Amino acid sequence: MKKNLIKSLALVMAGIMSAGMLAGCGGKGDDVLTMATNATFPPYEFYENEKIVGIDAEIAEAIAGKIGMTLEIVDTEFGSIVAGVQTGKYDMGMAGMTVTDERKQSVDFTTSYATGIQSIVVKEGSPIQSLDDLAGKKIGVQQDTTGHIYAADEFGDEMVLPFNKGTDAIAALVSDKVDCVIIDNQPAKSFVEANEGLVILETNYATEDYAIAISKENTELLEKVNAALEELIADGTVETIINKYISAE
Ligand code: GLN
Repeated sequence: MKKNLIKSLALVMAGIMSAGMLAGCGGKGDDVLTMATNATFPPYEFYENEKIVGIDAEIAEAIAGKIGMTLEIVDTEFGSIVAGVQTGKYDMGMAGMTVTDERKQSVDFTTSYATGIQSIVVKEGSPIQSLDDLAGKKIGVQQDTTGHIYAADEFGDEMVLPFNKGTDAIAALVSDKVDCVIIDNQPAKSFVEANEGLVILETNYATEDYAIAISKENTELLEKVNAALEELIADGTVETIINKYISAE
């Protein structure tokens, strides 16, 4: 009899505890690390069977593990990531994001973990053979990316057609709505592999550093993420993850 009472008491207690835990996890709990990304940027972030995978997703997972948090990836428009991090909607932004002086005014960046180069994608046999041939041509870009900013600065806003997704910019090239697409070299390679008849012209644009954006208000998280990321760089984990997605050239 007594045994049963203890048993049912234990059950009630367990019930209360799990209800409490559920309530704790229902909102944005302290132990959840939300990462905003734009999952149209292979091999850094893309969908594989409904799941966001890629270099950024795996590095973020490793960071979250190191700092004892649970990673939650939110897929959003690239152009809304910096503002979302700045206002605290997301804990961090990780999206093959280039460190720029302009973005640094809104958010802080971690140590850089990878590099990218802006490339020009054209159709095979295109008269565009280098950057010099771009004048007067319609340029497709991904909205709010550095490629967009460079193209608009150099060739004028009226020559630039921005798309929400890199894949949409490439589709516009395939259907001749634009003459070329300016985009980071690694997604460019993925898109060219996936679409016949496209080629990449490497440009002489400067190499860019990719880093994680974190709110200027959240220096504690910045320090934690930086410490974890630096360990993952030092012990070769970041290199292993990058090599898994990018075959050595
Ligand atoms: N590296 C580019 C930028 O930061 C593009 C990033 C992206 O499209 N995800 O603007």
